[in-house]
Amino acid sequence: MAKSIGTVVIDAERCKGCELCIPVCPPRVLEMSVAVNAIGFRYPLLRDGCTGCELCAEICPDYCFDVYRSVKHDDAVSGVSA
Ligand code: SF4
Ligand code: SF4
Repeated sequence: MAKSIGTVVIDAERCKGCELCIPVCPPRVLEMSVAVNAIGFRYPLLRDGCTGCELCAEICPDYCFDVYRSVKHDDAVSGVSA
């Protein structure tokens, strides 16, 4: 059975700390940092379990997310896309 797996690269220095990305993530794998970036805002950190759904990238007003997704077929991984 095919399963979508993904990851995101987060540009923490662009983040304004609005937290819109936290509740929009279906598997809830984003959490805000304790540390702050150079302009004083907390930013999201990624835990395991991203599906690559891209909702975080769609909602972020500051374009902080690059999303990468693969489809896993049993024990093979193929089809990497942004
Ligand atoms: S791509 Fe989807 S699953 Fe992954 S962190 Fe963003 S909202 Fe969450
Ligand atoms: S939606 Fe974007 S700007 Fe807002 S907290 Fe998340 S990464 Fe930062």
